[in-house]
Amino acid sequence: MQIENLSAVEIVAKVTSGELSATDCTQHFLDQISKLNDDNGGFLSTTEQLAIQTAEAIDADRAAGKKLGPLAGLPVAVKDGICTQGQTTTAGSKMLSKFVPSYDATIVQRLKADGAIVIGKTNMDEFAMGSSTENSAYFPAKNPWNHEHVPGGSSGGSATAVAAQMAPVSIGSDTGGSIRQPASFCGITGLKPTYGRVSRFGLIAFASSLDQIGPMTHSAEDAALVMQSISGHDKHDSTSAVDEVPDFSAKLNQPLDGLKIGICLDHFGDGLSDSVRNSVNDSIEVLKSLGATCQDIELPYTKYAIASYYVIAPCEASSNLSRFDGVRYTNRAAADNLTDMYTHTRGEHFGNEVKNRILLGTYALSSGYYDAYYLKASKVRRMIKNDYDKAFESVDLILGPTVPSTAFKFGEHASDPIAMYLADIYTVSANLAGVPAISIPCGFDDGGLPIGMQLQAKRFDESTLLQAAHQYQTQTDFHQQRPS
Ligand code: GLN
Repeated sequence: MQIENLSAVEIVAKVTSGELSATDCTQHFLDQISKLNDDNGGFLSTTEQLAIQTAEAIDADRAAGKKLGPLAGLPVAVKDGICTQGQTTTAGSKMLSKFVPSYDATIVQRLKADGAIVIGKTNMDEFAMGSSTENSAYFPAKNPWNHEHVPGGSSGGSATAVAAQMAPVSIGSDTGGSIRQPASFCGITGLKPTYGRVSRFGLIAFASSLDQIGPMTHSAEDAALVMQSISGHDKHDSTSAVDEVPDFSAKLNQPLDGLKIGICLDHFGDGLSDSVRNSVNDSIEVLKSLGATCQDIELPYTKYAIASYYVIAPCEASSNLSRFDGVRYTNRAAADNLTDMYTHTRGEHFGNEVKNRILLGTYALSSGYYDAYYLKASKVRRMIKNDYDKAFESVDLILGPTVPSTAFKFGEHASDPIAMYLADIYTVSANLAGVPAISIPCGFDDGGLPIGMQLQAKRFDESTLLQAAHQYQTQTDFHQQRPS
């Protein structure tokens, strides 16, 4: 049995039946990390000792006849912007290189309570700002399909970890595309849940009205398993929804007869590469053959999504990141007085992209400019949400490409931040509108790099997203391909 080829569902089943010990499984993935991480850079740190202890406790529970949790023995890699008790949590920044949280994020608590085993913390763009992990203050993660190409970002390390089979499952966060874009670039499945579906308590905040945590896996079936564990109201996050959490696996095997899929022609415009266009068009045919019908829809205001996002996100970031000042949490620069201590700490420990966003956000929120920028962007955001509400009156899902191209090369967008920001063109709208969206593998380009398609659904309808994705994955094997 090649443990790294098992799905999350299979791992849990085998650990529960005793066919595979949690300890062997965990050790196997830790060995994979030792073997592969130097080349791939997916992990910033591992939690070896704790992971093995936890796995041994699960094996002991099984031997004693105790009932195991729904994720028993499942190794999970967690993005380093999510707090893990006793384990360094850097958010990809030098600012937090020595930050050891005193508590677990709610999602980490829930995963652990269900029997999952955290094996390490994954690389990311600093404070989740970026689309390539080139903004990691440590080292970039690489695309396991071709090391000259980026894995995407900001959850690039989480995507690399799963794609390179160093972890069966990882957790990412998505503010404007950071789960879906790297999932697309690395040929895996990535789900951004509805805003409020998953608690953000313990997620180091980037833009609080947009941030969501979600699973990155090989398949939709595995994503459903992880979603079941991490979803639901949390008294520590007042924006987490009280809505009942459905059984995400219940609908997976239902046929797609009668499912209405909307196609927005704007998503197939000039900037789209031919290989992505062709693969996404082929997927439409696959979904039709499964019983879905497709119709054109319009999302007229989404053409302003990038502009709106790159005002709102930096504004919120400029406020959220004010807490990193050398007084608590962070490293502290030497200085003679308090003001110098603040400025030196922030000047020395934040990277350029983070400084860029803080400056932009502070400017846009400043007196006299608020109405022209933040307020205006918020109004556009509402129009985008209205577009979605209207579209979802006539369709169940919206389908399109996740990213206009496949993974770009390191340095390709270094001198042109706008080109980098445009990598998010199809993903940011879902964050602005708060709707759930998934990226699943749907092909490869001529260079062998993966292509992803995105499905978006009504708020709180992750079940239909997962159903359509799973049904698609029963007919295709793109999600089963692994880099050599
Ligand atoms: N690439 C986008 C940005 O840099 C999205 C990041 C994210 O979703 N965290 O803001």
